[in-house]
This record gives sequence, C-alpha cells and structure tokens, in this order.
Amino acid sequence: MTTATKARAACLIGWPAAHSRSPLIHHYWLRTSGIEGGYNIEAVPPEGFAEFVTHLSAHGFVGANVTIPHKERALALSTPDARARAVGAANTLWYESGELRSTNTDVEGFIDNLDACAPGWDQTAEALVLGAGGAARAVVFGLLERGIARVHVVNRTPERARLLADQFGARVQPAPWQAIAELLPRAGLLVNTTSLGMLGQPALELDVSRLAADAVVADLVYVPLETPLLAAARARGLKTADGLGMLLHQAVRGFELWFGQRPQVTAELRALIEADLTKV
Ligand code: NAP
Repeated sequence: MTTATKARAACLIGWPAAHSRSPLIHHYWLRTSGIEGGYNIEAVPPEGFAEFVTHLSAHGFVGANVTIPHKERALALSTPDARARAVGAANTLWYESGELRSTNTDVEGFIDNLDACAPGWDQTAEALVLGAGGAARAVVFGLLERGIARVHVVNRTPERARLLADQFGARVQPAPWQAIAELLPRAGLLVNTTSLGMLGQPALELDVSRLAADAVVADLVYVPLETPLLAAARARGLKTADGLGMLLHQAVRGFELWFGQRPQVTAELRALIEADLTKV
C-alpha cells in the first residue's frame, strides 16, 4: 500500500503516564468512524515538556491532551482560548494555521453532559457549586457563559472560593460551608466539584431533601460511577448528571479538532468505559 499521507495521530501527555480512559475513548471513535488515525500515551517528565510540546508536530502529532502535572505549562506554551485562560489550565492542544492553540474542554464537557442528561437545566437563576479548584473554575465559567444569573461557590477553604469569585465577577458569590443548607432550596442546580464522595474519600454530607423537586444534581466524581450524592438525588426523583458523562463529553472537541469529525457520545461508548472503570 502506498501511503502518500501519514495517518494522523494525537496523544495524551502526562507524567507519570497514569492509567487514563482517553485512549479507549479515542480508539473507539477512530474505529467506529473508520478513520485511520492513532492516539498514544506519551510519558513526558516536567523537564522535557517544553521541548515536547513546542515540537509536537515534529514528534508526529497533530494535537494532544495534556494531563497532570502539565496543564498549566501547556497554557503558557500555546495560544489559549478564553476557556483555557479562565480555567488557568489547558487540557487540549491543536494546530490552527501552524499555530499551537489550546483550550480547556472540561467547560463544554460539563455543559454538554447537563444538556444531554437534564435538558432545560439552564432555566434556573441560581446554581450552587461545591469546591473551588480547577474543575470548579471550568464549571463556573461554563455556567456564566450559559447565562446563569447567580452562582454560589462554597469551599472548605473559604479563601479559595473568594479568589474564584473575585476572578469571575459579581455574578459569582462565595459562601461559607455552613451556608449550604440555606442555599439548597434556592439552587436549581447543585454541582459537586470536590473530591468528596470519591472512592477512598469521605462522603459529601448533604441533605438533598432541601432541594426543590425540579432541581438538577451534577457530580464530577466518576469513581464510583454512582456517588452517594447522586444515589440520594435519584432516590428523591431528581435529575442527575454524572462525572463519567462529563469525561466522555469533554473528549469530543479534541477528536473533532484532530481528526475533522465530530464524534457522538453513545451508550455503547459509555458501556465500554464503565466496564473499564469497574475493573479498578
Ligand atoms: P483540585 O483543584 O485539587 O480541587 C479539589 C477540591 O476539592 C477543592 O475545592 C478542595 O477544597 C476540595 N476538597 C478536597 N478534599 C475535601 C474535603 N475532605 N472536604 C471538603 N472539600 C474537599 O481538583 P480538581 O481538579 O478541581 O478536581 C476535583 C474533582 O473533580 C476530582 O474528584 C476530579 O476527579 C473531578 N473531575 C472530574 C472531571 C470529569 O470529567 N468528570 C473533570 C475534572 C475533575 P480545598 O480548596 O479546601 O482544598
């Protein structure tokens, strides 16, 4: 076979090259869309990251996902969009007119998953976000972009919630952890971006019965798939959006940028990743 054009390939850059579901997701989409392409894991130590990223194309890649500990450096070494700048970290790189661009796809992963799981969720005026780390910044940016009028941010370390609110302006209000009970009845959307509820971490102690009957609950944690928070919300009949859905939806944009086709988050893909997660 003559190969005038080399198959396009993207990669995941991390250190150490932790077990990631990204290769499973992208290989599934490559296979089901009949695209001849690749997605590799590249273990790159911090001292080699700048060289690797600035010569990504010479290393054979049309783009990349970036994970711990490189996401902040990736932002500095590329031309970021508004989302990556707002989050302060880039997780997806691609070339545009020869320039290395970056974005943070957690923003659309979160929003697209909500749209898929709870259409109409954005009719609420107020949202309550628990946590003030990197994932919270992506969530808050997405909520503001979508037009939610008020976003309350509660964090264990109040100073980080205040810094986040300062960054995003008056529509974002920091509140102390003790204010959760009082904020719950007003919030049409509750989002957990803390690691509480994750396997090996304490559960998130919260009374979902204080939420309105049409409230939506989103949890970014995806190990376990059904967190105690989501289980309690479902038991109350509330609509929910889970962390695995966000993980799948955040992968869509990278694939589209690298391989030129927008892939679908299908039930089959979800089942594939669920099976992998339950192996752990
Ligand atoms: P991060 O920057 O380290 O922030 C962690 C957050 O959790 C902080 O707000 C921290 O509060 C809070 N926290 C940790 N332990 C706590 C405890 N015992 N009690 C109360 N709050 C606690 O991490 P991140 O990148 O934002 O990620 C947060 C979570 O989101 C992780 O579980 C991650 O796996 C998940 N995530 C999921 C997706 C997805 O696609 N589903 C994407 C991104 C992240 P302090 O500020 O007080 O330390």
